[in-house]
Amino acid sequence: MVAAVLLLVAGGVAAVFAARSGSEFMYDLEQTHPALSRVAPALDPTTPPPPRLSQRVVLVIVDGLRYDTSREMPYLAELRAGGIDTEARSQYPTYSKPNYVNILTGVPPMASGVRTNRFPGYVVLDTLMDRARAAGMRTGFVSDNDPMPRLFLRPREPERPPEIEDVNAIEEGTTEAAGEALTAELRGDFDDARYTPWPGGFRDAAEELLAGGDQLVILHIALVDVAGHAYGGDSDEYRAAADTTDRVLRTVLSKLDLGHTTLVITADHGHTNRGGHGGLEPEVLRVPLILAGQGIVPGATASGALLQDISPTVARLLGFSPPGHALGRALVELMALDDEARGRFVALDTTRSARNAAVVAAAIHRSRQARLEKRALRLGVLIAGTALTLLVAAWLRRRGGIRLYWQSLAVGVPAFFFVYYTLLGTLGQRFSPSLLPARGHIATELVKYGAAATAVQIAAGWWAMRRKLELPDRLATANGIALVGLLIALTPVALVWTLFPGPYVEVPGPRLLVLIPAVQVSVACYAVGVALTLAVEVVVFFSRAVDPRVRALRLEKALARARVLAELAERGELPKRRSRRRGRGDGAAPGASADGASADGASSSGASSSS
Ligand SMILES: [Zn+2]
Repeated sequence: MVAAVLLLVAGGVAAVFAARSGSEFMYDLEQTHPALSRVAPALDPTTPPPPRLSQRVVLVIVDGLRYDTSREMPYLAELRAGGIDTEARSQYPTYSKPNYVNILTGVPPMASGVRTNRFPGYVVLDTLMDRARAAGMRTGFVSDNDPMPRLFLRPREPERPPEIEDVNAIEEGTTEAAGEALTAELRGDFDDARYTPWPGGFRDAAEELLAGGDQLVILHIALVDVAGHAYGGDSDEYRAAADTTDRVLRTVLSKLDLGHTTLVITADHGHTNRGGHGGLEPEVLRVPLILAGQGIVPGATASGALLQDISPTVARLLGFSPPGHALGRALVELMALDDEARGRFVALDTTRSARNAAVVAAAIHRSRQARLEKRALRLGVLIAGTALTLLVAAWLRRRGGIRLYWQSLAVGVPAFFFVYYTLLGTLGQRFSPSLLPARGHIATELVKYGAAATAVQIAAGWWAMRRKLELPDRLATANGIALVGLLIALTPVALVWTLFPGPYVEVPGPRLLVLIPAVQVSVACYAVGVALTLAVEVVVFFSRAVDPRVRALRLEKALARARVLAELAERGELPKRRSRRRGRGDGAAPGASADGASADGASSSGASSSS
């Protein structure tokens, strides 16, 4: 009983700790104040003024549009035929918000600190909108689905930015959040931002905005992404959504005079065949990049274009400095520039991105140093914790509270891990963050696999203990399975905790991005399975122990035994008690004939104390 309670407490603490780390892991990736935000934007010198190639740029982000699917869209095909037909790569982690930020600042997720769709703050990096405003231009924005302006808020008084913990809290609908939102000393970074999640809203707003005079207009359509998440990137529904989007774009954009406007059409990421993104799959990384209209070279192509190159390119088309934290470059090979201007732009981009890359590299270097120190500290804690656990376990085993039968262990322990990691490896698309078809949290998906594995684990535990008829022996065997299983589940968590301490200035690779929360969630689920198994054993143990019929039976048998012992004592043939008690742990159905009480739960010690 003591061993079971100790295991339950240890498992419970481990489960809470691991579950919390697992569910908060994605938040731990977010860096609300990345290193780049602490340096001034590196802007172009004001003289000589750069050439302006376009009167207006309309930047269209078709959320989640794969490159191959974009080739089946008739309006896009017309634009490609008269303009530039090329492609770009989304950047890791290939989630939406990180790449919206990438497109509008030129800073990839790695350096912007926006790593998932759960980013709680607002981006304090220099943006395309900031540069347009500085050049005396206006920026308009329309989305049918995402309140993207929330990502780009600016303090009204730069010296006193308001303390807002999570700008997404407004969606929770609490009175406090709504009140805070109304009075927050923040303003949006777009001059005219329209978020229109109602029928007909997008088209209305886009047409009205395009009829106005904003020099930079950003349109964001989410339909394709919604279909990708619901049906997968290789589905008829996904292609139908692309077709619908194509028709809406034709309706909204075909009135534009391409003699005075440049269209730039791209996507934030693609989709896997079964739906989902976030990882490094080719179909997720590869997105279309189409340019048409003023200031471009029809038929040109770009090689190695990244989403971080979009905002420098748009800035150059409109004749102002690229965002000053951008790591990208203007795609000058696509622009109608003379050699002198092209050379100057390349030099300016190289200088700026080298400065910014150095800032990022220095931050990474500092974080690696800090990580080494944390690792050393945590390694010490880990070794001490392991030694203590093993000592307690050895003591409990000596006292008979834990039994390690290899047959039971072989059945009871691996079941969970086998089921859990098989599900993750097959359904989970080989350990990629793109495993989520639905827009959700990695941990939520992992918990589903964990629940299935826990059910199998409990069943396997029952099977493993089916021959243990004697209740104390059963409980000790269950304790043994729980101990070994918990140790196995905890080992990778302890290693992850030791080797990969936050904050994550560098983003772990796609495998680790799944594996880190996966091992944490596995401990939580395994501990729940252990708790259920042990709880049932404890209840059975107690209910048998206090059952009056069992107690009466036990007393009768104890009495009979006492008589036998008394007879033996009279004849001077009293057996040694210690050797008999020790012998009980060894056989498969031990002690059954010696005291005759094993099947109904009375232990020999119970019998002797009763007598
Ligand atoms: Zn997206």
